Amino acid sequence: MTNATGRHFLQIPGPTNVPDSVLRAMSAPTIDHRGPEFAALGLELLRDVKPVFGTTNPVIMYPATGTGAWEAALVNTLSPGDKVLCFETGHFSTLWQAMARGFGLEVDFVPGDWRHGASPEVVAEKLTADTAHTIKAVCVVHNETSTGVTSRVADVRAAIDAAGHPALLLVDTISSLGSIDYRHDEWGVDVTVAGSQKGLMLPPGLSFNAVSDKALEASKSATLPKTFWDWEPMLAANQRGFFPYTPNTNLLYGLKEALRLLDEEGLPNVFARHTRHAEATRAAVRGWGLEVLCLDEREHSGSLTAVLVPEGVDADKIRAVILDRFDMSLGAGLGKLAGKIFRIGHLGAFNDLTLAGTLAGVQMGLNLAGVPADGRGLAAALERLQAA
Ligand SMILES: *Cc1c(COP(=O)(O)O)cnc(C)c1O
Repeated sequence: MTNATGRHFLQIPGPTNVPDSVLRAMSAPTIDHRGPEFAALGLELLRDVKPVFGTTNPVIMYPATGTGAWEAALVNTLSPGDKVLCFETGHFSTLWQAMARGFGLEVDFVPGDWRHGASPEVVAEKLTADTAHTIKAVCVVHNETSTGVTSRVADVRAAIDAAGHPALLLVDTISSLGSIDYRHDEWGVDVTVAGSQKGLMLPPGLSFNAVSDKALEASKSATLPKTFWDWEPMLAANQRGFFPYTPNTNLLYGLKEALRLLDEEGLPNVFARHTRHAEATRAAVRGWGLEVLCLDEREHSGSLTAVLVPEGVDADKIRAVILDRFDMSLGAGLGKLAGKIFRIGHLGAFNDLTLAGTLAGVQMGLNLAGVPADGRGLAAALERLQAA
């Protein structure tokens, strides 16, 4: 039996489903990126992308994936040997700190159990103890896509302020921007790192750095080597709507449409929708008698849910059954969670019935894979959705 008709369910936590109108926008002819038509588009996008970050400061756009924007955040603000404070919240924070080490930065990597976010208490402790101000930056992954745990960025900021410490705050919002409440300016974030293929509902290939005045100031004396990622020529060219090298023109057409969709729905509604779908998903997981990986009620992710499978069961086998029978892709366990969890992405272009279909597929797949999943799981989710 094959179920490969109709739409594939792409329920990994990024890349996410791209709305038809975004795909259509991207199919327009490529234009001269040094011409006047492009300049108007560039200026419009550089302005209209700011509210999504909650900033009035510049947002830099790179033709690169999120990993590139991670690198840009580090090389523009830091110098060889600088000390940075990172938190082991999961796979992505582990990769980011490894990148920092690769650049010769001295990383204080606070161990974690992959079930909690970055601890504001530990931030306070470490920074208060650092009276010589040797720590130059605190790096936090807002939404750990590998675990479904969202760190409390505003509380991290408050901890830095309470310690009276000048460290920069660098935040990865690759899987939270446009899906989970985020406020670059209000939370005093210095560099926000983001990508196109998750909450922004675009294909991969575009990434961002939103930068504070303090980050711009730090960039003047930062000496890590940089050329492609250098903010200065970017910001200079951006003044007139241009880029120092070829931007990914068609992805920018898509960005224009994605920003229009987010604006039409209204960001507070976008965030509320994701919160509600995450609640319904957790109701299903608990109804199935399974465990949600995130352990802190304050830190549940709105954009994805990581589900622990019973001891002795291979989570990848469940995913394989679901892909084979129902043509749905779910996220795999990454790093040390490989085989132990699967991840349900419920972000981006997504609605109640897409969630209902997703959870129905998971429930049937669990049963087919020999993990008895009580029908009360899906019923609990539908009840939550019905309640508005
Ligand atoms: C997806 C993701 C990344 C990696 O981004 P790429 O676009 O694959 O380079 C980094 N951090 C987080 C939190 C992510 O979700």
